[in-house]
Amino acid sequence: MSGLAEHLRRRIALEGPLTVAAYMTEALCHPRFGYYVGRDPLGTAGDFTTAPEISQMFGELIGLWCGVVWQAAGRPDPVNLVELGPGRGTLMADALRAAAGVPGFRSALRVHLVEISPALRERQREALAAAVPDPGPAWHDGLETVPEGPLLLIANEFFDALPVRQFQRTEAGWCERLVDWDPATGDFRFVLSPPAGRLPAAGPPDVPVGGIVEVCPAGSGVARAIGARVVASGVGALIVDYGYARSAAGETLQAVRGHRYHPPLADPGEADLTAHVNFQALAAAASEAGAICHGPVDQGDFLERLGLSARAAALATSATERQAADIESARRRLAGGDQMGTLFKALAITGAGAPPPGFD
Ligand code: SAH
Repeated sequence: MSGLAEHLRRRIALEGPLTVAAYMTEALCHPRFGYYVGRDPLGTAGDFTTAPEISQMFGELIGLWCGVVWQAAGRPDPVNLVELGPGRGTLMADALRAAAGVPGFRSALRVHLVEISPALRERQREALAAAVPDPGPAWHDGLETVPEGPLLLIANEFFDALPVRQFQRTEAGWCERLVDWDPATGDFRFVLSPPAGRLPAAGPPDVPVGGIVEVCPAGSGVARAIGARVVASGVGALIVDYGYARSAAGETLQAVRGHRYHPPLADPGEADLTAHVNFQALAAAASEAGAICHGPVDQGDFLERLGLSARAAALATSATERQAADIESARRRLAGGDQMGTLFKALAITGAGAPPPGFD
């Protein structure tokens, strides 16, 4: 049994079955055995690949998006550029390179990275050493410690890593899905809590008996905090992730290992665990704080409106035939409706003003 499985088994023996959120938090963030803590999970040798790792075009377009939003907000200087869950730092490095083309923008930026993984913080330090000279970026465990002030925030595939709770409707009422350990088989398994009267959060209407609803209190908390900050100090946030535009029943907890789906309760700490992002819930939380939400729009539409095809064509003019084919294949992967183009969505949160680029 792995160190984390043994820790979970003991915790369940002491406390009883864990919520799915507690299981996810342990599996991803346990300070010694957590999935993100000791490894770089990205890339072909890892478990999954993300948009910034597919092509530099993704980060460049987001860097320009930030520059235009900053100009529209009256060019606040300084402005905190915050990334949640920066992975290898690739998106930030590409965004900063593109930002240098917007007069006055680059020198106004103070870079803050919210990252729990020591291994990935090290990757980010290397990736950004040249782009963010001394004293370099500031790292944070959460948004709370980022200094107040005008905020540009980006988050790609961050919210899908935040823990969800799952509730199942039964004849007797709403039960929470919990993770138990079965001594007979030595495996973790789902069980149901005793029924409670209602869901702890607003859920989708008309869930049939047997239906499962997921809620992500941590995601709503971060969205509310972003909303409060952009209302208080201005500018905006861009959230890109895979998920659904409107609340709906269904369970989406999934594990991925070596680019393949894996059973979510097998090998805790050894596989990436995510859940689809409920954009309606994020927008509701940011709106509660007084912010204006734009979208979500499909990633393919968003990137095309920002000029993805034009950028791909520009890169191809100085490329070899082989490189040009790679650029075209990356463009299709990012924007194609059968690839990341419609499953992934973009949501913008601003304090005031007209819709930002890509959302009009
Ligand atoms: N944005 C990157 C990486 C996505 S993977 C990209 O697109 O390539 C998820 C990232 O979020 C990783 O950097 C991971 O370590 C970080 N992360 C996950 N849960 C977190 C949490 N609770 N707090 C801070 N960072 C977290």
